[in-house]
Amino acid sequence: MAWIKNKVFKNGTEFVKWLDKNFGKYIEDHISELHVHHTWKPNHSNKQSLLQLHENMRHYHVGTRGWQDIGQHVSIGKNGDAALGRDIKIMPASAFGHNGTPNWHPFMFEMIGDFDKGHDKLDGDQLDTVMAISQYFNNKGKKIRFHREMDNHKSCPGTGISKDWYMAKVTGKKVTQNESAPKVEIKSSTTKKSKTKANLKVDGKWGNSTTEALQKALGTTQDGIISNQYDNRITRAFYGTTIHFSDGKKGSMVVKSMQSKIGSNVDGLLGPNTIGRLQQNLGTPYDKKLSRPSAVVKELQRRLNAGKF
Ligand SMILES: [Zn+2]
Repeated sequence: MAWIKNKVFKNGTEFVKWLDKNFGKYIEDHISELHVHHTWKPNHSNKQSLLQLHENMRHYHVGTRGWQDIGQHVSIGKNGDAALGRDIKIMPASAFGHNGTPNWHPFMFEMIGDFDKGHDKLDGDQLDTVMAISQYFNNKGKKIRFHREMDNHKSCPGTGISKDWYMAKVTGKKVTQNESAPKVEIKSSTTKKSKTKANLKVDGKWGNSTTEALQKALGTTQDGIISNQYDNRITRAFYGTTIHFSDGKKGSMVVKSMQSKIGSNVDGLLGPNTIGRLQQNLGTPYDKKLSRPSAVVKELQRRLNAGKF
């Protein structure tokens, strides 16, 4: 059974039944966790249908962000309907560094709404669908994680939803808090050293300034140089004088640091496998090639500018 993009289910029960029948085994063998997000924008005031909102998001993710597809596997509407997004067999664009590998990755959903305090409320049919899906993955032994648990600059899925309240609903354990105003604890981002933001031109060309921004973000020597590389089709696609060739025996520190961050083999050498893993981590089309200019470099530059690499 193939994943059917844009298929819409009326409610969570219907979706979970279909999911288990067609992908139950796949989920057991290849899905690591369940990741929970809210869209923030669009929110409940938007009157378009779920499918329309879902299509708008895909258009934005693919057209503007340059991703290979919509970031999430499923979008959940205000009325509890659920639309299929990215193929379950593909890693989601959930949270950088937490998207897993092709064979062991999270399942990700987006709830349409802004669940920050004082805005939309997660209840009724939408909550029922969210819970049906969450309970299904929980029963399969998959850990449930909120976006903000992976990125403490985010409140996602909203300051109005406490993890304790949510998990009590999932597990059916007694809820002690007032459900209408769940208490929420978010790590203050001020206590954490904020990351350095770069000011790169987002042009998809990896030259000396992109290397230097990456070195800054990863805390390695900041000279804009990637040393000791082999001459191959990846290193030849760089710009400026950032690549220094040699016999490749030692590799480069900044490449090692990046490889360890993206879960690639740590040898300090740039090649198709490192670029492929970077593409998977950043959610851009996966072909293990570096184009001139390149979508994955654009996304890397965006992240460096946002202090999010
Ligand atoms: Zn999120």
